[in-house]
Amino acid sequence: MLPRPTRTGEFEVTRPRPARDRVRGKAVGRIPWWYSPWGHLAFPSLLGIGLIAASIALLDRPSWLELASVPLVLALVNVNEWHIHRNILHRRSWPLEFLFWRHTPEHHVIFVRDDMAMRDTREFRLVLIPFYGIVAIFVVTLPITAALWFLVSPNVALLWVASTMGYVVSYEWLHLAYHLPDANPIGRSPLIRRLRRHHAVHHTPELMQRWNFNVTVPLGDWLLGTIHPDTRRA
Ligand SMILES: [Zn+2]
Ligand SMILES: [Zn+2]
Repeated sequence: MLPRPTRTGEFEVTRPRPARDRVRGKAVGRIPWWYSPWGHLAFPSLLGIGLIAASIALLDRPSWLELASVPLVLALVNVNEWHIHRNILHRRSWPLEFLFWRHTPEHHVIFVRDDMAMRDTREFRLVLIPFYGIVAIFVVTLPITAALWFLVSPNVALLWVASTMGYVVSYEWLHLAYHLPDANPIGRSPLIRRLRRHHAVHHTPELMQRWNFNVTVPLGDWLLGTIHPDTRRA
């Protein structure tokens, strides 16, 4: 991944609602007519759950030590989530620059701290990662899966697949939950409210380049000292 110098100053100011609505209108206007929001949510969810179920079904009496790889993998993936969000979604990085353009000038301009809610299910397109993202992650991590299979044990490789796929599905569901309208009961549960507050601080344009990069559990932000003080005060 090659980071490129990225000027983000113009996106680091909270724009008035009419200006944000213009960006929203253009982004929604680019969504093709055949776009299915529920299909976009179902594809990674069902594929991820299917791969988790298949991996667990193939486990052969895993030892406690092998099972202990799961929390370790989840912690490492959490720090990687922090890295990808900070360095690929908020800075242009070849060859994944399209992820920057979807995220910083679009997702962050449209949704700001006090206006986080999607207005329509078609806006799933502005929140979820591209539908093929989970396939790309599975394929890109295959060398790690193979190395674990042959160098450690097939059980650890299967637990790795289950953990990473579970992580991707959780990321999608949580991020979508944070951008639900206030009246939605999912967004009002205490756990989601707490995590959503963390993400909402990140949606302050003036703070987004520096703070609260975890979208799931803020472990990476805690370890790397990027939890904004407002998150704790709120
Ligand atoms: Zn968001
Ligand atoms: Zn962001």
